Amino acid sequence: MTPAPAPDATAAAEATATSDATATSDATATSDALAATGSTAAAAPPRLRLATAWLAGCSGCHMSFLDLDELLFVLAERVELVYSPVASDIKTYPEAVDICLVEGAVANTANLELALQLRARTALVISFGDCAVTANVPGLRNLLNREGRGGAAAVLQRSYVDLADGSGRHPHAPGLVPELLDQVWPLHAVIPVDLYLPGCPPSAERIAATLLPLLEGQRPIQAGPAMLRFG
Ligand code: SF4
Repeated sequence: MTPAPAPDATAAAEATATSDATATSDATATSDALAATGSTAAAAPPRLRLATAWLAGCSGCHMSFLDLDELLFVLAERVELVYSPVASDIKTYPEAVDICLVEGAVANTANLELALQLRARTALVISFGDCAVTANVPGLRNLLNREGRGGAAAVLQRSYVDLADGSGRHPHAPGLVPELLDQVWPLHAVIPVDLYLPGCPPSAERIAATLLPLLEGQRPIQAGPAMLRFG
């Protein structure tokens, strides 16, 4: 598959913002929000089916998710975590997922397959972190693929041969490891994305400010540096 050219990532993130909304009060409201959400947990069945997925990323966004700390207890009451590399041993992405946080860029065939699968099985897909939103660090190898020349072969040549200490050779293990795509893509270049959650990683407060409204059936307000700043 040759994904369509990626639109400007910053514009994509801004496109989700509510134009007349003011920036959220971010971290300072988290504790109060947690308490309020927790107190109403019993009145909010059925539980949302939540997933987190991990493409070409460093796991830092998932570590930030774990930094939600006490909100994790609220989530445990309000959602059913149906797929996650850090909280579940389920290997196959399930059907009928309500929300999925997707960390990482699309860099190889396994990333692309999972992205397509989760899109088909998820109501609301969140591009989670700068790697998913812009390709970020994994996308640095695109510098070796200028104007469509070089592709994955240039990356393998540079990594395994040019920089090797004398005995370098191209790795060749078909079927054992996923093939690199010629270009690393942000998530929205290969599947439609519903929300953008930038940051490297997004702070726990920003994650909370996104998830808490969704638990209440509301769309989070994505405006201002507290929600949209990269890095
Ligand atoms: Fe890691 Fe940053 Fe990419 Fe998240 S956005 S996967 S923290 S490099």
